[in-house]
Amino acid sequence: MAFPATRLRRLRKTEALRSLVRETRLSPANFVYPLFVCPGEGVRKEVRSMPGVYNLSVDQAVREAGEAGGLGVPAVILFGLPESKDEFASGAYDDAGIVQRAMRAIKAEVPGMLVIGDVCLCEYTSHGHCGIVRPTIPAQRRALMDAPADVRRRAMQTAAATAPRGPVTMEAVVDSAAAAMARSPEQHFEVTNDATLELLARTAVSQARAGADIIAPSDMMDGRVAAIRAALDGNGFEETPVLSYAAKFASAFYGPFREAADSAPQFGDRRSYQMDGANLREAMREIEEDLHEGADMIMVKPALAYLDVIAEARRRFDVPVAAYQVSGEYAMIEAAAHHGWIDRGRIVLETLTSIRRAGADIILTYFAKDAARMLT
Ligand SMILES: [Zn+2]
Repeated sequence: MAFPATRLRRLRKTEALRSLVRETRLSPANFVYPLFVCPGEGVRKEVRSMPGVYNLSVDQAVREAGEAGGLGVPAVILFGLPESKDEFASGAYDDAGIVQRAMRAIKAEVPGMLVIGDVCLCEYTSHGHCGIVRPTIPAQRRALMDAPADVRRRAMQTAAATAPRGPVTMEAVVDSAAAAMARSPEQHFEVTNDATLELLARTAVSQARAGADIIAPSDMMDGRVAAIRAALDGNGFEETPVLSYAAKFASAFYGPFREAADSAPQFGDRRSYQMDGANLREAMREIEEDLHEGADMIMVKPALAYLDVIAEARRRFDVPVAAYQVSGEYAMIEAAAHHGWIDRGRIVLETLTSIRRAGADIILTYFAKDAARMLT
């Protein structure tokens, strides 16, 4: 049947009709509200690049969680700004750590509020990476020394070709390689995978002990879901679900978060462990692996630039899918709204609806409270 018998506009005539046939519904019940917890008392320090988002001391985090709960938002996710940082991220798995204290307080004072623990090390490491960092020069030096004669000969020929003056010794080759690596720090260091797993697992158990309802690893190490699941089970937390940041892309949209959580890497970037933004099929492999390792729910992050990834995840996997509308997505809307260039409220609801329509059941969003207010 075609026009004029078919007229799609018939069902758009009034808000009542539009509402009746609406395919995607947005509700505060879909939202998770991220909170950044810092030391002190009565602290509410606005994040410069995220107006309306604050570093909150535990008492203020409790207040925010209570307010969100009152608006129908069922969950908060906690990030921590510890008093001090070190190479081994000890603040992450300290039972008296900042996030653990906030968890206990929110669980005690905001009944019914789900508390999600973000599990990563970058907020707690002095270097700002998500895992244990070790220098690669000694390893490469050793590898070159131990290499077969022909490999060494080729390395020396290359060195001779680039530095033709003077005798070329093995030491000189290694030293020039080391000097080159020192000039590009991301090659100079590597974030080790397997050594990091134990610390992530410890962090998860410590958060579960503090009352976390859901454990959400965001580090992108291989095998971390299995390590965390085993540690939780081994410590009596068989019933604590894991929401894995399964497809977390290395993204420029995280910029403002790094200010909010004070977690910018001090050297290099995160591209050796977070995903390449160009890869959809690899994202599906990441999700498959995490589910295989025992994840109960999976997440795609960021959201708006990765709606196709959310849609494909929804199509392929019958588990709850979460999406994180990240700091850069928030900051862009806030900035444009501040200038009066866009209608903030409508853009907020439109972007959140697009994330739901793509297939996300759960949306982590800094707009949680505002959007909840608009929806009720
Ligand atoms: Zn991290």
